[in-house]
Amino acid sequence: MVITTTTRSDSEASVHCTFASRYVRTALPKFKMPENSIPKEAAYQIINDELMLDGNPRLNLASFVTTWMEPECDKLMMDSVNKNYVDMDEYPVTTELQNRCVNMIAHLFNAPIGEDATAVGVGTVGSSEAIMLAGLAFKRKWQNKRKAEGKPFDKPNIVTGANVQVCWEKFARYFEVELKEVKLSKGYYVMDPKKAVEMVDENTICVAAILGSTLTGEFEDVKLLNDLLTKKSKETGWDTPIHVDAASGGFIAPFLYPELVWDFRLPLVKSINVSGHKYGLVYPGVGWVVWRSKEDLPEELIFHINYLGADQPTFTLNFSKGSSQIIAQYYQFIRLGFEGYRDIMRNCMENAKVLSKGLEEMGRFEILSKDIGVPLVAVSLNDSSKHTVFEISESMKRFGWIIPAYTMPADAEDVTVLRVVIREDFSRSLAERLLSDFEKVLKEIDELPSRLSNKVAHVIATVEELKGREERENLVKKQKTVKETQEHVARYWRRLVDRKTSGVC
Ligand SMILES: *Cc1c(COP(=O)(O)O)cnc(C)c1O
Repeated sequence: MVITTTTRSDSEASVHCTFASRYVRTALPKFKMPENSIPKEAAYQIINDELMLDGNPRLNLASFVTTWMEPECDKLMMDSVNKNYVDMDEYPVTTELQNRCVNMIAHLFNAPIGEDATAVGVGTVGSSEAIMLAGLAFKRKWQNKRKAEGKPFDKPNIVTGANVQVCWEKFARYFEVELKEVKLSKGYYVMDPKKAVEMVDENTICVAAILGSTLTGEFEDVKLLNDLLTKKSKETGWDTPIHVDAASGGFIAPFLYPELVWDFRLPLVKSINVSGHKYGLVYPGVGWVVWRSKEDLPEELIFHINYLGADQPTFTLNFSKGSSQIIAQYYQFIRLGFEGYRDIMRNCMENAKVLSKGLEEMGRFEILSKDIGVPLVAVSLNDSSKHTVFEISESMKRFGWIIPAYTMPADAEDVTVLRVVIREDFSRSLAERLLSDFEKVLKEIDELPSRLSNKVAHVIATVEELKGREERENLVKKQKTVKETQEHVARYWRRLVDRKTSGVC
């Protein structure tokens, strides 16, 4: 680094200054682009230093998204970071790799295609984009059918469990489809297929089942849903199809539970999405959607672009995007093969079991995650009258662990949960250390005075404010049961948590 004009006091200052502060003596620009340039080293250090305050991705047990890949794959990704995926004519090999990935995934999900046949599907930025595309295809197919029958087609709806990931709500709002959610209940945290089928009507574009609920990792019973819907369709003639949101479970079930029938083996399953960047083991930025057959993807949604002289059929929401993730997905497929994925998923499941057992043995938690499902551990406290999962989550941060705490959706809002996602890079020794840190935190908060007495007082004060004076008197008179108190506390925390933008993903 060359510092051109230095006065004596400047050079003195520079000896005592940290590197970046030589260049940035005022607050960093936040709103307007700065007038002048700064050296590249300074820009690097300033940003790098600020980023140090982010959490450590490897210790982020909140996320399903891949945080470690092999250096060889890192290299492939860096080498292709300047390739725009959409330039298919210029980068035909990249396009070919995406097609191979689509084929492999379709075969993995038992699509009814021949050994060498090309599957129908596309690489996306993640499962959210994949779900938007699948949802659009269902909406358009339903509209076409209704038009042909001379029936109204302005009130489409979609049936899901209340445990769906937020991207379904996004789809519903952006694309004007009513979201009909099957409520959960205490002790049952996935969509009940029976209730879902009851909610289906002539305007239902599809029922979305989740293979690996975000909240507890549990698989929904797609087979039962398929059977019940088949029966209903026979009676009504509605032919309601199924989409499976296999964002996390799509790369778990085929390897660990090949006998579990959830995919294209079920005739009503018309499309499936999966996140390449979750258990597909690629860094963030890749998802996939595959359709059962060409007939399930309305032709009018496919754009044929004459791009630099070549015909390119595309069905995505975006135009430009990076190629690295697609290349990395292909790397993982051929590098690991079925055997490699199976071993990794088994390992994750083993670590989840160790953690789940360890937490259970502490005698303080109820385990909500199931033995069969996504490798994660979701627990609630047996007794939240003194301390809550939110306090545990906060306290674990001191050891560097990022573990989300949240409340369940309707109608199980009073259940509060801690969730630890097990990824490939979460080793057995980290699991053991996590357990011992859990023990430390539990011991510590046992010795603390209950923060809840303050919280409860606060909650009651808020409740009092909201209610009239008369009711306030009743409220004071009324003896609060432990359960009521816990519910108040859960609601209090939920209000706090809802204000935060971060959450479970
Ligand atoms: C993560 C997740 C999504 C969203 O996927 P992205 O790949 O993050 O866009 C959707 N559904 C479920 C069940 C998920 O777990």
